[in-house]
Amino acid sequence: MNFHILTLFPEMVLNGLNTSIIGRAVNSGLLSIEAVNIRDYAFNKHQSVDDYPYGGGAGMLMQAEPVYLAWKAVEEKIQARRSLPAENGAPLTGETGVSAPEQQEISMPPETTAKRSRVVYLSPQGDVFDQKMAEELAKEEDLILLCGHYEGIDERVLEEVVTDYVSIGDYVLTGGELPAMVMVDAISRLVPGVLHNDVSAEFESFQDNFLEYPQYSRPEEWHGKKVPPVLLSGHHANIEKWRREQSILRTKERRPDLFAKCELTDKEKKWLEGLEIQKEI
Ligand code: SAM
Repeated sequence: MNFHILTLFPEMVLNGLNTSIIGRAVNSGLLSIEAVNIRDYAFNKHQSVDDYPYGGGAGMLMQAEPVYLAWKAVEEKIQARRSLPAENGAPLTGETGVSAPEQQEISMPPETTAKRSRVVYLSPQGDVFDQKMAEELAKEEDLILLCGHYEGIDERVLEEVVTDYVSIGDYVLTGGELPAMVMVDAISRLVPGVLHNDVSAEFESFQDNFLEYPQYSRPEEWHGKKVPPVLLSGHHANIEKWRREQSILRTKERRPDLFAKCELTDKEKKWLEGLEIQKEI
C-alpha cells in the first residue's frame, strides 16, 4: 500500500513513521510512505503558502493553489504508474522521501476517466476515525492524506480534491501531521504481511465491537498477583471461553457505548444475567 502525505512538515511524518513495525514494512517493500512538501509548490519567491482569511479573523489560512499543485503532482504520478504494464505499475516499494515539483510535468494518462485516489483531509470537522474505517482504507492501493496547518485550508481546494474528511477525535490540534501518522499506523498494521504474525491482528479490541481480554506474561506471580489459573491449564477451549467472557465484561464496564452494539449468544446473555443477579444478592 502506498501512502502519500501532503504536508508542510515532511520530516515530522517521515521521522515519526520510520521506526519499528512500520519502518520495517517500508524497508521490506510492503508499504511506501511519501511525504510531499506543499511548500515546494508555492508560487511566490518567498515560498509562502498561507495568507489572511477573507472577512477577517484570527490566524492564517493555507492557500488553495500550492495544495492543489501538490495534490495534482501526486495524483498524476499515481496515474502514470498505474498506466504502466503490470510489472512496472506495481505499487511503489520501500519509498520514503519528499517529492519534487518537477513531478508536475508528468501528465495524466489520456483516459482521464481513471479512478482518482482517495484523498483524506485530516480535520477536526471530519468523521471520527475508528477501526472500521482503518479496515476499509487498508483496501486502497494508494491513499493521499492532506495535512492542514494554521487555521486550516482554503475551502475551494478542499471542494475540488478531498474525498473524505477524517478527524482523530473531538479536540483541535495544531496540524494534521499527528492525525496522519495515527491513520498510517492503524491502517498499515492491517495490510497483509505487516504484522509478522497474522494472529496478532486476529482478535483485537474493536473486533465486532468487543474490547480485548486482559493478557499476562512471565512471571506467573508479580507483586503478589497471580496469572489466572485457566491460562496455565493448557486447555484451549476453556482459555477461549475465559477470554470471551473477559472481553464481554471489560467492554460492558469500560465502553458501554460499544457494548450496546455487541452481539451475545443466548448462552452468554444468560451467563451475564446470572452474574448480575449474584452481584445484587
Ligand atoms: N480552524 C479549524 C477548525 O476550527 O475546524 C482548525 C484548524 S487546526 C488548528 C489546523 C489543522 O490541524 C487542521 O487543518 C487539520 O488538518 C488539523 N487537525 C486539528 N485537529 C484535528 C483533529 N482532531 N483531527 C484531524 N486533524 C486535525
